[in-house]
Amino acid sequence: MITLTGKKVSEGIAIGKLSFYKRDTKEIRRIYVKDVEKEAQRFQKARQKAMQELKELCEIAAKEVGEANAAIFEMQQMVLEDHDLVDRITNIIVEQKLNAEYAMQNAVENFISTAAASDKDYVQGHDADVKDATNRVLRILSRGFKDKMLMDEPFVLATGELYPSEAVQLDKTKVLGFVTRYGTINSHTAVLARTKGIPSVIGLGEALKKDYEGKTIIVDGFEGKIYIEPDYTTITKMKQKQDANHTQAQNLERLKGKENVTQSGQKIDVCANIGTREDIENVLRCDAGGIGLFRSEFLYMESGPKPPTEEYQFQVYKLAAESMGLKKVVIRTADLGGEKTAECLDLGEDPNPAIGYRGIRVSLDKEEVFKTQLRAILRASAFGNLSIMFPMITSIKEVTTAKLILEKAKKELKNEKTAFDEDIPVGVMIETPASVMISGELAREVDFCSIGTNDLLQLTLGMDRQNEKLDRYYDTHHPALLKMIRIITNNVHLEEKHISVCGDLAADLELTEYLIQIGIDELSVAPNQVLALRKKIREIQ
Ligand code: PEP
Ligand code: MG
Repeated sequence: MITLTGKKVSEGIAIGKLSFYKRDTKEIRRIYVKDVEKEAQRFQKARQKAMQELKELCEIAAKEVGEANAAIFEMQQMVLEDHDLVDRITNIIVEQKLNAEYAMQNAVENFISTAAASDKDYVQGHDADVKDATNRVLRILSRGFKDKMLMDEPFVLATGELYPSEAVQLDKTKVLGFVTRYGTINSHTAVLARTKGIPSVIGLGEALKKDYEGKTIIVDGFEGKIYIEPDYTTITKMKQKQDANHTQAQNLERLKGKENVTQSGQKIDVCANIGTREDIENVLRCDAGGIGLFRSEFLYMESGPKPPTEEYQFQVYKLAAESMGLKKVVIRTADLGGEKTAECLDLGEDPNPAIGYRGIRVSLDKEEVFKTQLRAILRASAFGNLSIMFPMITSIKEVTTAKLILEKAKKELKNEKTAFDEDIPVGVMIETPASVMISGELAREVDFCSIGTNDLLQLTLGMDRQNEKLDRYYDTHHPALLKMIRIITNNVHLEEKHISVCGDLAADLELTEYLIQIGIDELSVAPNQVLALRKKIREIQ
């Protein structure tokens, strides 16, 4: 048995086979095939296999995240059954004597671009899902035997570094846990692991060897340890720990429907942070008071070469709004840049990403992309209780300019006679030292503020949250940060506005009492942290 120690980023125990991440760098090549019949059969087999996978995913999703979210996999099955698409692919294989992968890629692009003019309602605005479905077939076509064996059952993912744009796409039904050689506990990949509730240990260094491929591994996300080819005693111990964790989670279930109130009667709202459509159902399941932070940039990061369309975004925000009913949903406009890169937006090279071209700076620069997002949020606001929040604010001017673009979007929708909430609340993130100093003035401009402790900490300390060498200096309880949170709370309350904390510190149970005591109105944490936080609040005197 080999034991390695890294950094714990997301709690839980995962036991399974280790599989190294195979980045899909293979270009699809145009290859002539002699036996077109055989190639057409290869395509049909992969298509059938993909349909079977989607059927299974649909059943699992219906159980775990509800019918509404599972419907997406039904729609993907419809894509793979579409005669028009299947015929196009088969024709390219047979008539042009080309390989199935190339035929698929070509036909799909054509299919998407002509869908707008066709009567295929179910495809329109769902480019990402069409690609998701067809990429599944492509993956099956290119799978090796070994890959197949490992990928057919859930596995523990290993990689050098996992980028946020990759972490956001992890299929929780397949990935039991993940382990990496590099990375920091404050990165967005770590945030995503916690949001999705995937046990993970990162920063294991070169000791995480490729030779471990296919071996049994245990990930102990509580201790930041992994065990490769564990012995019987370790397996038994870890299984017990897994069971105990399960029992604890079940005990927390009893707190559903209960108030977030201290023994002395002080109440605080507890909401959840999400990043994708798949996370919405988790919020309902954990009984959060709403969505305090929807990191909408993840929709851009998983969108491929083109930004998500207005229609696609509208559907996702609408689903969030409708699923939450009267509960609020705060959509943070795309906070791209820094480590959150998106293929669909060319943000260029940034010599200093943490203090570079990011957040609202990008949005104000790319006004059309920004307005498209605002239109989508506004349209969805007719279906629930939505709010808009701007990230990485440093000045009043940024807020007034963003609000002007919001007004333009509202005016367009009015002219188009499209319904939206005219009084949709607007808020800002307080996550730069500049915004702390002008938090009172900012609060006057908006309806609510939310403290992003992740960025606020790195910018206050002047330490990049991605830099592993700084881990030991990175004091998440630094008195400067705690003092800032108190100052912001007082300033925002003087303006009689609502103040929340949505950065990772909101889930730090050692600070819950302090945050309640200084008067924070709301804490927003990963869905699977909601009930543990409620328990902590209810224990406070
Ligand atoms: C934060 O900075 O605390 C925050 C919530 O934003 P993000 O982590 O997405 O940068
Ligand atoms: Mg931030």
